[in-house]
Amino acid sequence: MILIENTVKKVRETVKEWKSQGLTVGLVPTMGYLHEGHQSLIKKAVNENDRVVVSIFVNPIQFAPNEDLETYPRDLEKDSLLCNSTGADLIFHPQPEEMYPDGFSTQVVMNNLTAELCGKTRPTHFSGVCTVVSKLFNIVKPDRAYFGEKDAQQLAIIKRLVKDLNFDIEIVGCPIVREADGLAKSSRNTYLNSSERKAALILSKSIQLGKKMVADGEKSSQTVINAMTDLIKTESLAKIDYVSIVNAETIESVDTISGEILTAVAVYIGKTRLIDNFMITV
Ligand code: AMP
Repeated sequence: MILIENTVKKVRETVKEWKSQGLTVGLVPTMGYLHEGHQSLIKKAVNENDRVVVSIFVNPIQFAPNEDLETYPRDLEKDSLLCNSTGADLIFHPQPEEMYPDGFSTQVVMNNLTAELCGKTRPTHFSGVCTVVSKLFNIVKPDRAYFGEKDAQQLAIIKRLVKDLNFDIEIVGCPIVREADGLAKSSRNTYLNSSERKAALILSKSIQLGKKMVADGEKSSQTVINAMTDLIKTESLAKIDYVSIVNAETIESVDTISGEILTAVAVYIGKTRLIDNFMITV
């Protein structure tokens, strides 16, 4: 059965032992309640590294006070079965006090890349992400770390973080894994009741529409955004947080669609905030 460690010290000892044998290490950071999206990251990490660490930590500092920290779903037993059957070697499952002991005072804040998309309505979110990911990188010292394109802004931010702070780690992005009907898999999908679950399809439908318009040659961001917005508004349970088109690397808004772009949506379905996106090079 897979090894589960709760302390920084134990993880360091294990990784040090692996490295002394010349083994490579992959890291998959998660908040747990794992599904096939997370599993695709773990699989890729297992294929590309000798040993794989999955961190499972619902990071309190990336949640704002009005968000779902308390209700975020957790199931370590099920998660450990999935990690085990997928070939991971170690789960790092710290308590908040282990990561943020009394007197903790440092934050990693990114100035650019956080002004648009999720950074607009979740202004403290990405400093929480950058801080915890920096800590995980320093604790595990992986050769490679795996992140999903589902959180495309986060992926761009982590790539920038690694460049800016000279982490000697390769960041590997992995494609979005979806349900059969198109809904992007998410731990938060579990919040949806059956009518909300149907309504949530409006996200992937709007993404498909935007993607088709861009593939068909539409060059105006506003035209694509308007069409996607109108479609989402046909769903009465949906409330738009944003529909945006940005440069995929800098996360700055673009008026004309060209180069590597990220089209992203965040939509409340009832009380649940869901995100989806597509990236395309034009
Ligand atoms: P989370 O547990 O939601 O913080 O996600 C942990 C990692 O899994 C992040 O890098 C996510 O982008 C990735 N992830 C979550 N859902 C999916 C999905 N449906 N497809 C691909 N990657 C995903």
